Amino acid sequence: MQITSEAVETLVEQFAKLPGIGRKTARRLTAYVLKMPRQEVVRIADALVSAKDRVKFCSVCFNVTDHDPCAICSSGKRDQEVVCVVEEPSDLMAVERTNEYSGVYHVLGGVISPLDGIGPEDLKIRELVSRVAGGDDRPAIKEVILAVNPNVEGDTTAYYIGQLLQPFDVRVTRLAHGIPVGSDLEFADEATLGRALEGRVGL
Ligand SMILES: [Zn+2]
Repeated sequence: MQITSEAVETLVEQFAKLPGIGRKTARRLTAYVLKMPRQEVVRIADALVSAKDRVKFCSVCFNVTDHDPCAICSSGKRDQEVVCVVEEPSDLMAVERTNEYSGVYHVLGGVISPLDGIGPEDLKIRELVSRVAGGDDRPAIKEVILAVNPNVEGDTTAYYIGQLLQPFDVRVTRLAHGIPVGSDLEFADEATLGRALEGRVGL
């Protein structure tokens, strides 16, 4: 194959690095970008760089935020004694959309997945345990809700965390069934996720 534009190939390659984007989609996106007005392309490029530069991770819950600690952790209206553990910030947003939850969060940054080379030390699990352990002037945590996705990796992670939290005086729960097995929390509708949250069960 003769490459006629290095710039086009580079863009295809960069798009193809994104999750869920295969080479075919990467080519389609590239073709689309080339037809866009220049100022639109600049807007996308700016948004990418500014998100990367400005967004930080909350030092308490590890959610993405412009200010540390994040708006949820520093809100006086949230119940600081209940912590909902999620995989990614997108799952946190899914729980927020239910309007059924008034506690705080802990974002793991993924799940234990030996096949992908992700172990407990790659996630914010140690930080979760130290939050539960409390001490200093940190609020005591009474309940940890494990809102991980209902699949093998989610189950493994929930079990692992459950074991680590056993020595502490904390109630550990998981979302009730109702979220289809193998599906993503992020894509569950608000009513289903709200019900799963309300009917959570002890681990
Ligand atoms: Zn936070």
